[in-house]
Amino acid sequence: MFTSPFSRVAALRVLLALGSSSLSAIVAAPADPTTEAGEAKLTDPTVECTPYNYPAVSSALTSFPPIWEPASIVPGDMDAEEQWAAIQGGVPDIPPKGTLSGNFGGLNYPQSDPDCWWTFSQCTTPKAPGLVPDIAVMPEPQTLGYGFDDGPNCSHNAFYDYLSAQNQKATMFYIGSNVMDWPLEAQRAVTDGHEICVHTWSHHYMTSFTSEDAFAELYYSLKAIKLVTGVTPTCWRPPFGDIDDRIRSISSGMGLRTVLWKYDSDDWQFGSTPGVTSADVDNNYQKMINDADNGLFANVGTMILTHELNNYTMAEAMKYYPLLKKAFANIVPVGVGLNVSHPYAETSYTLPSFAQYVSGDAGSSSGANANNTAPIAPTTNATVTSSVAPATSSTAAQPSGTSAAAAQSESGAGSARMDLRKNIAAVICVASVLAGALLVGAH
Ligand SMILES: [Zn+2]
Repeated sequence: MFTSPFSRVAALRVLLALGSSSLSAIVAAPADPTTEAGEAKLTDPTVECTPYNYPAVSSALTSFPPIWEPASIVPGDMDAEEQWAAIQGGVPDIPPKGTLSGNFGGLNYPQSDPDCWWTFSQCTTPKAPGLVPDIAVMPEPQTLGYGFDDGPNCSHNAFYDYLSAQNQKATMFYIGSNVMDWPLEAQRAVTDGHEICVHTWSHHYMTSFTSEDAFAELYYSLKAIKLVTGVTPTCWRPPFGDIDDRIRSISSGMGLRTVLWKYDSDDWQFGSTPGVTSADVDNNYQKMINDADNGLFANVGTMILTHELNNYTMAEAMKYYPLLKKAFANIVPVGVGLNVSHPYAETSYTLPSFAQYVSGDAGSSSGANANNTAPIAPTTNATVTSSVAPATSSTAAQPSGTSAAAAQSESGAGSARMDLRKNIAAVICVASVLAGALLVGAH
């Protein structure tokens, strides 16, 4: 199970710490889809993706926007109103762009890119005052920032088991609606020692939202993650990379670092965008590996966009992990690469520093990292052990490992992106603007 010297040492440390009686209890724990530990032992994707009732979620549904629907502040939500009131005064006067699905047709956007709109120019250095640049690379050389978007996926156990076996932590960019649908799967990320960041509530183009609704997309994602895992992330990744200075101002006001990427595996397009083949995805992975082999990251590391979207994207991640290990000196969660000691608003939880992580002090497969001074078990899931009942969430599961709503959301993304390219290309054609700015992979 443990393959590297570091992970063997870590495993030994854990065994010693646990003691034999605890260990035997863990080994003997049966598969049980009503608890995080039990759910994590399920191996049949069909069983994994059978919806379940999680009382802490079902009893809180009225405090959230409808799952998978574009978010707005829930009427009467005074905490949300207060937080929004504290932020809105500083938001730049930039109008929303295009549609929720990324149709920017007819938008007369200046070629000077006044809003630092990533979708337009891959701009990551804000032009509005007081905003920090987005994170798209890793400061340490020969280092890959390792993360996965669109989870938690209901059938991710094989993938998470693989990461645990490699003693590899990653950054998981979770969709709030997926967290509500699959709370036990979200808990597993914390238990396994992964870092959780936010990937919005409903996975739409953020620059299309009104400012208040953009706030709600982030606010309720944070609230969902807090509800089921007990932690409040301090980082996020905009779906499709769609961010400008207005959205940056809102996310920054909520204490969220913006994380983008440099390479796009396009794994999300396989199966949803006609013409995109598995070989294309392989080539995208390989391009970054070739660049690593050619010394492109000798001074500064990088990041690649990959997904927990479905069993194909997760299988690709497992297929390429050994190759990435050869190509990079270090593969680290984004927060570790940035030396973020406190990844959550709850400051009792800590991440190892970059130096600690790469020296093998990456934590244990049980999820308690070496520096973690507080229990990382969820703090609000007193009902975790309750019995399974028919699901109340709106999302039916699919054996393939992609929730129906997620599949709907993601399958629309390819055509939406095509529309985006086509429409922006038209604008650019008329304006004779930078031709290369549009070859932007995004999800
Ligand atoms: Zn996404």
